[in-house]
Amino acid sequence: MKFNKNLESIKTYEAGKPIELVVREFGIDSKDIVKLASNENPLGCSPKVIDAVGAILSKMALYPDDSMIKLKNALSTRFGVENENIIIGSGSDQVIEFLIHAKASSESKILMNSITFAMYEIYAKHVGANVIRTTSQEHDLDEFYKLYKEEKPEIIFICTPNNPTGDALDAQKIYDFLDKIDSNTLVAIDGAYMEYAIAKDSAKEIAVEELIKKYDNVIYLGTFSKAYGLGGMRVGYGVADLKIIQELYKLRPPFNITTLSLEAASVALEDEEFVEKSITLNLEQMKRYEEFAKERKIDIINSYTNFVTLCLNSNQNSTKISNQLLQKGMIVRDLSSYNMNAIRVTVGTHEQNSRFFGLVVQFL
Ligand SMILES: *Cc1c(COP(=O)(O)O)cnc(C)c1O
Repeated sequence: MKFNKNLESIKTYEAGKPIELVVREFGIDSKDIVKLASNENPLGCSPKVIDAVGAILSKMALYPDDSMIKLKNALSTRFGVENENIIIGSGSDQVIEFLIHAKASSESKILMNSITFAMYEIYAKHVGANVIRTTSQEHDLDEFYKLYKEEKPEIIFICTPNNPTGDALDAQKIYDFLDKIDSNTLVAIDGAYMEYAIAKDSAKEIAVEELIKKYDNVIYLGTFSKAYGLGGMRVGYGVADLKIIQELYKLRPPFNITTLSLEAASVALEDEEFVEKSITLNLEQMKRYEEFAKERKIDIINSYTNFVTLCLNSNQNSTKISNQLLQKGMIVRDLSSYNMNAIRVTVGTHEQNSRFFGLVVQFL
């Protein structure tokens, strides 16, 4: 059977291996498995979310509130924008899908960093668009600008902090860059890890309200999957000028967010204490990774996220080491598919991280 030609060159996205798979493949008891592969919150989510979701389970028979008013109100208060500036997606992944489908076609070019979130390219390929990448590992906005001038891309992705490397740009540098971009080029700023970045260095914080007021060609993306601990609920959002949101809405399937997910995200946003606790733990435990890397003479990228990227030495092989860890029930992310001899490890609880250090030293 023949399928859409655009799909031919797509490599199916490899999600972090689920615990269930390791149970099946290696016969390891699920309580002995530690997953530090998908940048989930090791503390889970706010207990208030669990109570709130539990209280509305009986509403499952009804379709969700498709206006998403409760969550939109919470987000608009958080960011100081109007409800009409917000679109909610089944993960911010879905908003990325909408924006590419809304703006790009097979004649388009989409500009992104050499190493960045893999889904940008996959959605770009859906529509047959051409992916243009920078060469430097970290976002170099001078190089972005040079390629913007040469290639005239339809969309530019800036991922700050970047996944899977963890580095982040100063917000001012992004504003200076945006000043030079014409208003027909859509710039997506993906802040999936922004909560962690702000806690480490406030210069990384994007002022979302001012951003979308000043630039009507910019969309800011956020998610509940990381600091809020709701990866399993699939909720993300985009904030932009009304004209962009209206176009994205044309692509949104009805009821794309479940009743339980809407409730979970609304309540999660209000429990700032939980997020602060998560961030404090992350900063504290991150130091242990930095010390570990220093002791073992491994390069670690300065991270503004809840994960660390360990760039291994040439006598160490990231694929081999992640497989050896997997067989011991420790799931991390091998970055060989990004052409890096590196592993990405989500910063876990004290115990999970100790377990990682204890295991990985056997394989380095
Ligand atoms: C995790 C992540 C997302 C989206 O996650 P969702 O679970 O789909 O909300 C988006 N961008 C980056 C860079 C991420 O790491």
